[in-house]
Amino acid sequence: MGISRRTLLQLAAGTGILSRAQARQSRTGLKAKIVIAGGGFAGAACALALRRLNPSIEVTLVDPDDRYITCPMSNAVLVGLRDLDSITVSRRGLERAGVICARDRVVAIDTQRRHARLGGGVVLGYDRLVVAPGIRFLWGTPQGYDEAASLTMPHAWSAGVQTQLLAAQLRAIRDGGVVAISVPTGPMRCPPGPFERASLIAGFLQANKPRAKVLIFDANNRFPRQDTFTEAWHSLYRGMIEWIPMTEDGGVVRVAPAEMTLYTANGAHRVDVANIIPPQAPAELAVQAGLASDHGWCPIKPLTFESQLIGGVHVIGDACIADPMPKSASAANAQARQCALAIVASLAGREPPTPRFESVCYSLLQPGSALSIHGSFDVAAGEIRQLQAEEHGAATARQEVRNAEDWYRHIVNDSFGV
Ligand SMILES: Cc1cc2nc3c(=O)[nH]c(=O)nc-3n(C[C@H](O)[C@H](O)[C@H](O)COP(=O)(O)OP(=O)(O)OC[C@H]3O[C@@H](n4cnc5c(N)ncnc54)[C@H](O)[C@@H]3O)c2cc1C
Repeated sequence: MGISRRTLLQLAAGTGILSRAQARQSRTGLKAKIVIAGGGFAGAACALALRRLNPSIEVTLVDPDDRYITCPMSNAVLVGLRDLDSITVSRRGLERAGVICARDRVVAIDTQRRHARLGGGVVLGYDRLVVAPGIRFLWGTPQGYDEAASLTMPHAWSAGVQTQLLAAQLRAIRDGGVVAISVPTGPMRCPPGPFERASLIAGFLQANKPRAKVLIFDANNRFPRQDTFTEAWHSLYRGMIEWIPMTEDGGVVRVAPAEMTLYTANGAHRVDVANIIPPQAPAELAVQAGLASDHGWCPIKPLTFESQLIGGVHVIGDACIADPMPKSASAANAQARQCALAIVASLAGREPPTPRFESVCYSLLQPGSALSIHGSFDVAAGEIRQLQAEEHGAATARQEVRNAEDWYRHIVNDSFGV
C-alpha cells in the first residue's frame, strides 16, 4: 500500500512540514510495533497518520468501544438538530488502513520491558507506546456529584448515553422551567462548549417552551468569546440566558439530586434540569502509568509529544499539557500528526520535523448562526507558542454554520478515515 498524493498533501497542509523527500524517507521499510491506548480523535488520527506515513509499521489501536461517539456536534444532538447516529463513527476506516483494532482496555504498562497489558489478559510488546485516553471526571466536586448523581443531573460531557439523558430531560421540561448549567474551574475539554450548549438550549426552549430559561453557574469570572456570546444572546434570546460568574455566587459547591437543588456559597437553587459539568483530569491510565505530574496533567516534549516523565511513551490529546493549545478535537488531531511524524523520524534515526499546529473551535448559536476561534501555534525554546488567534462570527455567522459542518466532516474523515 503506498501513500497517496492526496494524503501527502493533507498531511502537509495540516502541519506545513511534510516535504516530498521526508515522505519518501518515511516510506522506507521500518519494522516497528506501535501500540496506541485510546481510539478517540487523538489516538485514531495518530494510528491513521502512522499507517499512511509508513505501511510497514504495525499499529495496534486499543479501545474498549468498537465505535466512537464524537463530542463535537453532541450539543446539536441535545436539542434535536442531529441524531446520535450522525455523530457515531465506526472503526472500519482505520481497519481499511491496516490498523489492528483491539476492543479492550490497556490496564497496565511495563515501561522497562515495553509491554502493555490489556484487560482481557493479552500482553502487547511495543517499540513506541502512544497514550491517548482522554479525560476522567473528578467525582465528588461539587459535593454529592458522583456517577449515580449524573443519571439525574447529567453532565453530557462525554457523548452517548449522557447526551440522550440530557436531551430527554430538555424535551420533558415544563414551560417556565429552569435549566441550570454548572461550569467547573481548571483545565477542561472544549472551554467554549458550555456556552454553545446554553445558546442551543435557549434556541430549543424559545421554540418549544418560551417561558423557560437557562442559568449558567460559572466557577470562573470570564469565558471564551464572552463579548460575542453575550451580544448574540442579547439579540437572539433576550432575557432567556443568565450567566452568573464566581464573584456573583456562580460556583456550585454541592448538589442534592433527589431535590433537584444546587447549592452555591450563599444560596439554594431548585431547578428543573441540572447539567453539571464536573472538573476534569487525565484518564486513569495516564495517572496509573506515572505519566501525570503533580499538578495533574501529562507533561510532554512539544516536538515529539514524548512524555517528559517516561521515555518511549507519547501522550497526545486531552490528557497532555499542550498549553496554550485548547483541549479540543482539532488540537488532538494536530498533536497526533506531529507525534506520528516524530515517531517515524525517530525510528529512521532522524530529527523530528518542526511543527506548526492549527486549531479551530466552532460554536453553534442557533441552527443558522455560529462563531469560531482559530489558533496557530509553533514550538520555540521547547515551548508551544501561540502565533495567531482569530475570531469569526456575527457578520459571517451563516457562513460559519457551513464552515462548522465542513470542519466536522473533515476532522472525522482525517482522524478515522471514514
Ligand atoms: C460538548 C462538547 C463539545 C465539543 N465540541 C468540540 C468542537 O466543536 N471542536 C473541537 O475541536 N473539540 C470539541 N470538543 C472537545 C473534544 O471532544 C475533545 O477535545 C477530544 O475528544 C479529545 O480527544 P482525545 O482523543 O484526547 O480524547 P477522547 O475523545 O476522550 O478519546 C479517548 C478514548 O480513549 C479511550 N480510553 C480511555 N482509557 C483507555 C484505556 N485505558 N485503554 C484504551 N482506551 C482507553 C476512551 O474510551 C476514548 O475512546 C467538545 C467536547 C465536548 C464535551
